[in-house]
Amino acid sequence: MWQAEVRIDLDAIRENVSRLRSGTSAELMAVVKGDGYGHGMLPVARAALEAGASWLGVCTLDEALTLRRAGITAPVLAWLLVPGLPLHEGVAAGVDLSAASVAQVAEMVAAGETAGRPAAVHLKIDTGLSRGGATAADWPELVEAAAKAQADGLVEVVGVWSHFVYADAPGHPTIDRQLAAFQEGVAVAERAGLRPRLRHLANSAATLTRPDTHFDLVRAGIAVYGLSPVPGQQHGLRPAMTARARVMLTKRVPAGTGVSYGHTYTTDRETTLAVVPLGYADGVPRHASGTGPVRLAGRTRTIAGRVCMDQIVLDCGDDPVAAGEVATLFGDGADGGPTADDWAAAVGTINYEIVTRFGGPRVPRVYDGETRDHGEAA
Ligand SMILES: *Cc1c(COP(=O)(O)O)cnc(C)c1O
Repeated sequence: MWQAEVRIDLDAIRENVSRLRSGTSAELMAVVKGDGYGHGMLPVARAALEAGASWLGVCTLDEALTLRRAGITAPVLAWLLVPGLPLHEGVAAGVDLSAASVAQVAEMVAAGETAGRPAAVHLKIDTGLSRGGATAADWPELVEAAAKAQADGLVEVVGVWSHFVYADAPGHPTIDRQLAAFQEGVAVAERAGLRPRLRHLANSAATLTRPDTHFDLVRAGIAVYGLSPVPGQQHGLRPAMTARARVMLTKRVPAGTGVSYGHTYTTDRETTLAVVPLGYADGVPRHASGTGPVRLAGRTRTIAGRVCMDQIVLDCGDDPVAAGEVATLFGDGADGGPTADDWAAAVGTINYEIVTRFGGPRVPRVYDGETRDHGEAA
């Protein structure tokens, strides 16, 4: 008997990856950073590779090494690297690394020397996001340094890449501007003598809506998990995560009963309250107080009053609701129940944040559609 769980449907992950692949002739990188957007990095990585993803994308060196330690041999790119990390461990493990400065290239040269093989590097250009990546002004110096290191056999420049600002708003003028800046950056790299095999720019939104940005590889995150980066456009994707818990207790209370901390909710009639054992320690945003939708006994209800650390309360009126029944916070929506999109709207955030924060040490992740063989799937 389980109390609360986050269920992950790996068949949904596989279907979503197949759908993304069918929409592009580029290679597909499944982005599994952030513990697979809260879905569990390793099971998602294996399912995505089974369905035809040929790359995995992560942020940190640790995430990349965790994939390798699990026996996953598929190409992996890590792109969030502060100075001084043991990059040679990544190089030795065959992890590709992103560089956005001459200093980073120098670190990768040193890491390659320690590892006894050249680092595989993807040079990142900032085409407008002003986050990672070299500015257009710094780009020529970066590609020159990388071309020289490559000529000396000290690094291998595998890729040139960038990231969109606002691809989730199709038609936004930044998209064309960034595409043009990227093409110019690639041209500058080529003039420096580089022939990067993988030019990559598209995230999920661009993968779904802008084929002209696919180049050699697309990096899809949120769509792999079945959620749309473009509000209101599902693109045939199926959400993979369901968050649910059993009702701990029900009780009849009279009209005028204040509910949960601060009594921000008061019953307006005699009613049945149901207590559900999930709270902000489990990822339920406290901002969902009085707004978060929960499906219970065939109806979607709104959280009554404050979200506590460990519990929420639902006002069920006169519906027959009993302890032990399953309350679903969000799922694939097929039964008309709430989705991560509904939670994002209720809380004023994006579906990415809802699924990524959900679960935790107290809420087991349970997998449907897991391959029996936990060995290498790539
Ligand atoms: C997270 C991330 C992605 C994936 O973005 P989605 O919108 O989830 O598809 C792609 N590229 C980079 C650099 C990222 O950080």
